[in-house]
Formats: sequence, C-alpha cells, structure tokens
Amino acid sequence: MNLNDLVKTYIKEILITEEEIHKRVVEIGKEITADYAGKDLVLVSVLRGGAFFLADLSRAIDLPVTIDFIAIASYGSTSKHTGIVRLVKDLEEPIEGKDVLIVEDIIDTGLTIQYLTKTLKARKPETIEICTLLDKSVRRLVPLSIKYRGFEIPDVFVVGYGLDFDQKFRNIPFIGILNIEELI
Ligand code: 5GP
Repeated sequence: MNLNDLVKTYIKEILITEEEIHKRVVEIGKEITADYAGKDLVLVSVLRGGAFFLADLSRAIDLPVTIDFIAIASYGSTSKHTGIVRLVKDLEEPIEGKDVLIVEDIIDTGLTIQYLTKTLKARKPETIEICTLLDKSVRRLVPLSIKYRGFEIPDVFVVGYGLDFDQKFRNIPFIGILNIEELI
C-alpha cells in the first residue's frame, strides 16, 4: 500500500491542507522573528511529532535560533490524568538564561505541556513560552498561556504533518481526520 492508498482508506476528511499549514507557519515565523529579535532563542521540540513542525517553523524564523529535542514516555493511565511523563531523552544543552520556545504539534488536555513547562522552568531559562500548531482547546483540563497558535481545531482525532496513529501517518503532508472505525 502506498501513501495515497493509506490516505484513501483511512482519512475521512482533510482538515488543514498543506498550503494552509505552510501559510500559517510562515506567519508564525514572522511573529517570532519580530518578538525575539536580539534574544537567545532556543526552539525545543517534543519528539517525535513536533519535529516536523519545528523543521518548517525554524526555517520561517529569520534569526540565528538553536534547536533541541526532548522525548517523553507516558506512564499509562497516570500520565493520562496528571500529565506526568518520563523524559526518555533530555535536552542536549543547558537552557539557563535562554529564551525557550516549546514547539508542539498539538495541545489537547494540556497536561503534558504543563508538566514539561514546569520541568524546564526549574532550569531557570530567561523566558519560556509555548507554540503549538494545533489547539484542541475544547478538551483543555488546565489553564495554559499559549503564545503562538497555528489552528484551533474541534474535538477530532487528527493525523499527518508529524501526528501519528500507531506510529503511522506522520509523513502525510496535511492534517487529516482519521476514520477510526476503519482501524478498530
Ligand atoms: P495533552 O492531552 O497532554 O495535551 O496531549 C498529549 C498528547 O496527545 C499530544 O502531544 C499528542 O501526542 C496526543 N494527541 C492529542 N490529540 C491528538 C490527535 O488528535 N491526534 C494525534 N495523533 N495525537 C493526539
């Protein structure tokens, strides 16, 4: 099965096209460029999904940024209710005194990003802010201040542009709504 067949079989609707994503990424890149001029900006992305957005966003920022990655693993149902996750890959560089922007693909309940922000804040960055491509704010369980938001989306399960289902669909260039019935 090639990618096209995968899309035809399992994607019921394209929610955000490749062009719409590109346009919005360029807009956010411009905002970040203006806001962080003269600062020591580190873009921190959460593997694996966030890497796709980070790759495009970093190239839309006209500043000498650095990038770093963390990878997390959930503790099953504990994570589901608390957002407490295990760092399975930490940042390569210290962030003390730096301006950190966490680049996420999607924020749902907000628990994971809340926990991550708290963990990274303990390392004394100069500032720490959140940038997410997608925001499912109807499902939010904790108050969050999001500095940059690509798109507000409804309560649907999406894949593509880094987002997976069972580790697949990440390399689809658009954001699509998954036809869950076909998969379970
Ligand atoms: P939280 O609920 O803690 O804000 O989000 C935790 C994680 O759930 C996200 O980082 C993402 O990995 C996953 N997630 C939430 N909604 C979706 C979705 O619609 N599609 C996919 N592929 N992952 C999602």
